[in-house]
Amino acid sequence: MTTTLDTRDRVVLTEVSKTYDTPSGSTVALASTDLVIEPGEFVSVVGPSGCGKTTLLQLLGGFLEPTTGTLLVGPDRVAGPSPERGVVFQAPTLFPWLSVRGNIEFGPACRGVDRATRRAEADRLLRLVGLDGAGDKRPYELSGGMQQRAQIARVLINDPRIILMDEPFGALDQLTRERLQVELLRLWRQAGKTVVFVTHSVEEAVFLSTRVLVMSARPGRILLDRRIALPGDDTERVRDLAVTATPEFQALRTELAQAIYGAHR
Ligand code: ADP
Repeated sequence: MTTTLDTRDRVVLTEVSKTYDTPSGSTVALASTDLVIEPGEFVSVVGPSGCGKTTLLQLLGGFLEPTTGTLLVGPDRVAGPSPERGVVFQAPTLFPWLSVRGNIEFGPACRGVDRATRRAEADRLLRLVGLDGAGDKRPYELSGGMQQRAQIARVLINDPRIILMDEPFGALDQLTRERLQVELLRLWRQAGKTVVFVTHSVEEAVFLSTRVLVMSARPGRILLDRRIALPGDDTERVRDLAVTATPEFQALRTELAQAIYGAHR
């Protein structure tokens, strides 16, 4: 299934910068940045620790205000968080006092969606993320990977146009991480969303993305903006891990790793 992509979802940053002012001085976390993200892109952001990746994501999420410049989604200036821009954090942020289903239904419940509708939608999403049967459990009964899936379902139920992910799989073991990467690609394809994904892992960035941004050390700026094309992308098939063994994948991995290495200097 392919969903029509809406140009209202285009993200446009014009001379956006972010400086943090603290009692010990000010830090330019993001230097003046121009960036356009088209609807349906899967954009990963990589770079050395402290280069402003999370800052960029928080600006996109509306949790931070740019110090200079304008940040638009479609025609609208980002003026705060919105369910249309769903955020998945690294650390699970599920409410411990609610069941998994209760967590997933939380957004629609706040918006006054009736019980039967939100229950049906939560059950559909539980199946989609492979958590059918776990709806009545409490978050602490789930493994880390299951909690991350529940978080993704909790974001998807709001039908966000843009999904912002901050190292969502960073704390997971490799096997779980690889499974969730493939599931995420499938979801992204099916739902036709825009994804912006922060990661430390070059492999993860190349495997998931249609485009990778490499950021430099402070003050953070985009050093390299690389389109990612891998064997099989011209087919309807969702990428699988076998692609990581291809020379094309390895070449991109090396190129980006070198760019990140350069970004440290
Ligand atoms: P990354 O996600 O790439 O590790 P961040 O966006 O978290 O980078 O941070 C970029 C820079 O801004 C770092 O030097 C960090 O110390 C600084 N910084 C981040 N958040 C704050 C804050 N709330 N107050 C002051 N400085 C901050």
